[in-house]
Amino acid sequence: MVDFSIYDQKQPEVNALQCPNCKTVYYPAPMVCTKCHTRRDPSQVFFSAWDKVPVEGPCKLLTWTRVWALPEGYNVKYLQFGVVEFENGLRASVRLEADEPRTGMALYAAAGVTTERSGKDVYGLIARAP
Ligand SMILES: [Zn+2]
Repeated sequence: MVDFSIYDQKQPEVNALQCPNCKTVYYPAPMVCTKCHTRRDPSQVFFSAWDKVPVEGPCKLLTWTRVWALPEGYNVKYLQFGVVEFENGLRASVRLEADEPRTGMALYAAAGVTTERSGKDVYGLIARAP
């Protein structure tokens, strides 16, 4: 489950969830672990909570794309998106901010604010060249 914990802290963060039984990390997380069938209960009434694991740090670019046809309201020519793999094997889709993206390149991903569009800030996972 994507968790943008922006309301109780200054710095936004994105978390993956880890199964408390078999330690498999998911992003996004299912309601039932696909490996050991441990249930996830966001209310924590019936089952224990799954641990939050920050989705942040060094990663490798697996694939990427550049979108030129943007909806009205964007003040940039294009946006780039990618799929990265972190050192723990977790994969995530990211906003890609690299001048010349290359598949396999080393990046650093962290939660941040995307401000291409006027209006409210939008929080997301951003990958940049280290
Ligand atoms: Zn499990």
